[in-house]
Parts: sequence; C-alpha cells; structure tokens
Amino acid sequence: MANEDKFKKVISHAKEYGFIFSSSEIYEGLNAVYDYAQNGVELKNNIREYWWRSMVYMNQNIVGIDAAILMHPTTWKASGHVDAFNDPLIDNKDSKKRYRADVLIEEYCEKLNKKTQKEIDKAQKRFGDDFDEEKFVSTNTRVLKYKSQQKEILKRLARSLEAEDLADLKTLIEELEIADPETGSKNWSEVRQFNLMFGTKLGATAESTTDLYLRPETAQGIFVNFSNIQKTGRMKIPFGIAQSGKAFRNEIVARQFIFRMREFEQMEMQFFVRPGEEMKWYEYWKETRLKWHLSLELGKENFRFHEHENLAHYANAATDIEFNYPFGFKELEGIHSRTDFDLKAHEKYSGKKLQFFDPELNKSYVPYVVETSIGLDRMFLAIFCNSLKNEILKDGSSRVVLRLPAILAPTKAAILPLVKKDGLPEIAQEIVTDLQWDYNIKYDDKDAIGRRYRRQDAVGTPFCITIDHQTKEDQSVTIRYRDTMKQERIAISEISEKIKNSISYRAWLE
Ligand code: ATP
Repeated sequence: MANEDKFKKVISHAKEYGFIFSSSEIYEGLNAVYDYAQNGVELKNNIREYWWRSMVYMNQNIVGIDAAILMHPTTWKASGHVDAFNDPLIDNKDSKKRYRADVLIEEYCEKLNKKTQKEIDKAQKRFGDDFDEEKFVSTNTRVLKYKSQQKEILKRLARSLEAEDLADLKTLIEELEIADPETGSKNWSEVRQFNLMFGTKLGATAESTTDLYLRPETAQGIFVNFSNIQKTGRMKIPFGIAQSGKAFRNEIVARQFIFRMREFEQMEMQFFVRPGEEMKWYEYWKETRLKWHLSLELGKENFRFHEHENLAHYANAATDIEFNYPFGFKELEGIHSRTDFDLKAHEKYSGKKLQFFDPELNKSYVPYVVETSIGLDRMFLAIFCNSLKNEILKDGSSRVVLRLPAILAPTKAAILPLVKKDGLPEIAQEIVTDLQWDYNIKYDDKDAIGRRYRRQDAVGTPFCITIDHQTKEDQSVTIRYRDTMKQERIAISEISEKIKNSISYRAWLE
C-alpha cells in the first residue's frame, strides 16, 4: 500500500472503530483538535500508564506531579516563551496556504537525504556483497555533493533562525526554488514571526482581569515546583520529576491528523543533575528512552536519532527520537540538555532561591536539567500506524487487524457465547463478571462468531474466548489468539492467568 493510502486508512480506521473523532464534529469539527473515543481513550491511558510506570515506579529517584494548566503569567516571561516561542511563518500568495519557513527548508534537505539513499541503494545492488557503504559514502561525488549541500543549508538555516534573520529565510527559500508542496507555486510572502501561545483571561470584571496563557509545555509546572518537591520529597541530586498533561500550541500548519494538534498531551520528565554532569545524563536518557520505545516491539528500523543543529535558547545539546510514520521519519520525542536556564530564570523573576545544597560538595548550586519530552498523541499515532495491518489469509480472504502490543490493547479479552441460547450467554456473563475486576473485558453475542472475531481483530483485542456447548460439560472454552488466529481449548480457570502473563509490565519492560 502506498504510504499516503496507508495514512488515509489509519485515519478512517481510527474513526470507524471508535478510536478518534474530530472535535465537535456535528459542527464540522475544529481544525487540529481531536477527541479520543471509547477505544482511543483506553489505548491512550494504557500508553500513559506504560510510560508512568517505567519513569516513576521503576526509578526510586523520580516522582510524579500533576501541575495546573493555568500558571502565573510571569512563568512564561521567565521561560522565554513570551519573547521567543515563535515560528517563522510564510504564506503562499497564490494558494493562500500557510507554512513554516523552517519546515519548508528542512523538507528540502530531507529530499537531498532521500537522493543520497537512492544512490546508496543503487550501488548496493550493483556491487552486492562486495559493497563497502562507508567507502562509497565518503568518495562518491554525487553523494558528497548532496551531503555538503545539505550541511550548508542547515547551517545557514540555524544561523538565520538564531539571528532572527527572517529576510534571509525568504532568500533561502527563493534560492532553493522551493515551491508550495501542494500547488507548485513559488509566489511567497515575506516571513513573519508568529507566537504559538494561546492567550486567555482570568477574572470577572474588565478592570480586574489578568492576561494568562494556556501552557505550551508541561515542563514549566515542574520547574516552578522544584523546591517544593525537593524539600517535601527529601530528594537528592540526581533526581527527576515526571508529569503527563495537556499542552496547547496555536500551530501554524496542522495537517497531519493527531501528529500536530493545537491541544495535545505531553509526558515529560525533568532530571536535575550536578552542573558538569549533564552530558553523561543526556547520553543515559537517550539510551534509556530508545530502549523504552524498542520494548514495545515497533521495529528497531523505525526509530532514529536526529541531533539538533539549531539549539533552542535554553539548550546545550538536543536530540529527537524520530519514528518512521507513513509520512516519513518525524519527531516523536525530544531529549534536551536544558542547562540551568529555566531554574535560573525563575530565580531571577521570582526572587526565590531554586538551589540544591549538595552535602558531598558542601555547597549550593542551581542544578542542570536533562529533559525527556514525548507527545502522547504522537506515540499513539506511531503505535496505531505500526499495528494496523491488512492481511491476506491462506484461503485467499483478507482481514484487517490491529496488532497492538497486548499490554496497550484497549480490550484484553472478548467473551463470546457461540449462540444466544442454551444457557451459553449466562456462562459468558459469569466469566465477564469475574474477569472485569482485573481487566477491561467485552461481552459480544451479536452476529456469527467469525464476524465477531474480525471485529475484535480490528480493535486489537489479543484474546477471544468462545463459550460453546462443551463448556457446559467440562468447563472448558476455546481461546483464539489475535495474531496467529490459532485456537485451543483451555479451562475457564486458566483464562485469567493467560491474560495476566500477556500484560506483565515486568515482561514487557525488562
Ligand atoms: P515540532 O518540531 O514537531 O513542532 P517541537 O520540537 O516543538 O516539535 P517539543 O517542544 O520538543 O516539540 O515538544 C516535545 C514533544 O511534544 C514533541 O516531541 C512531540 O512529541 C510533542 N508535540 C509538540 N508539539 C506537538 C503538537 N502540536 N501536537 C502533538 N504533539 C506535539
């Protein structure tokens, strides 16, 4: 299936099977805002839980919090968001479409990357087993040209962004002859800065209102609580604070389903370390976070690191973990070494000390911070895209199956009486009543059993349990496995253990 078709299929499947709907759909929806439906909310909660446990339960020196979305407005002055949380915006005068100038340039570089890869693939085919990729990449003139072009462009982009030289961004777009990706027009407006924060007001009367912002990231709720948590939790450096919650950004371009939303959810962890030790921890968290992703078996080849050339104002190192979405490798998680920028800025603006007394060094300092920041919705999309398969079976028929990791599946088992009579529904209900204490279980007695299996395949349920006439005689049921479609007979008393083993955090995370 072509990637574009695959992505369309993902979006329609998410809607058809009750995972994701457009927000306020009866009013034609709201651009780049989505609602999680009955199956979507379960999958999303399970992803959050998988992350939370790995961070908070599995690390004795990490604790969680849940800070408010609304914060004192000075927070955003101190963090730099009021002055610098901008994206460079450019309009195409013919198509009236709006783009991020930096993204247009980055996409141009990605095309050069693809051309390089094509050359490598071609050579690989030609030379077979004798192919020495390293040598080829360092000597082939075409590859060298693409690589140096790309490097020059990215360097200039970083320089212009850093200096806020918007005119140069426009010149670069013109020099590279970048066209509107949708229409091919090169008739561009000037580049302007656009602040991504949503403003709102607090207070009842016009005179007493205060201008606030909806938080554009959850991290600041952690920084302003640094001292509270450190003292009440008696935390010693190095330690971390984790949080999952909503963030809001008035994104200029938001056209990729839940990849780029205006209201989304982040799962962030700020790790406070001794100044000078941040690079060690930065490397540690890069490796640890990649391992977490790989534990879900989404395929090693679908992840890659992308080191930032263009560092944010607060960072001294930054990398993205990118995932291979149907529309290409894109950022899923950011790992940033944020120095002491945020705590120092909050010290300055609040007049309060945000320091740690280190008994081993016998001195106080403002800790450095290494942050891991992952978009929950982007993780959802990665898992959903990767799991959705259209399979051709041996008998020539096909099935649509969502091969979700069992630990994340919305429903763990479906309980299905073969027929709606002879006391089978009653036995099925008894099994549901017992299992639902521990798992999300669904009962279904509509349609033929084959159709019920397919319905459960489509929402990713790992086990179907069928109750038939033999059950009445020997207390056994048929268990059908989603991935292999294999069926076997087991005792009712064994069902719970089967489910439990398939969703053990220890087994998945270890
Ligand atoms: P991008 O470059 O894609 O805009 P970013 O670098 O601005 O992302 P961060 O500020 O590092 O993103 O935010 C951390 C994480 O939050 C990202 O890795 C991403 O998973 C998620 N995220 C950021 N913006 C959005 C959004 N608009 N919709 C959904 N998730 C988002």
